[in-house]
Amino acid sequence: MTTLVKECEKHTPHNEAISYYVSNLIDLGTEFTFCENCEQDISRFCYDDDERGLRWSNWSVTK
Ligand SMILES: [Zn+2]
Repeated sequence: MTTLVKECEKHTPHNEAISYYVSNLIDLGTEFTFCENCEQDISRFCYDDDERGLRWSNWSVTK
């Protein structure tokens, strides 16, 4: 039997439980929390967009 994992089209971060982590000097930071819909651990990272400046990625399931 295969267990289907319900995957959100767009995860809903649990805002009260977001933790922020920077791993090194050039890392702009990653936020970790869990999704209120599917309850999986999710994360997003900050990156520098040439045109728009600092941006956050979409939330995705933490590997
Ligand atoms: Zn989700």
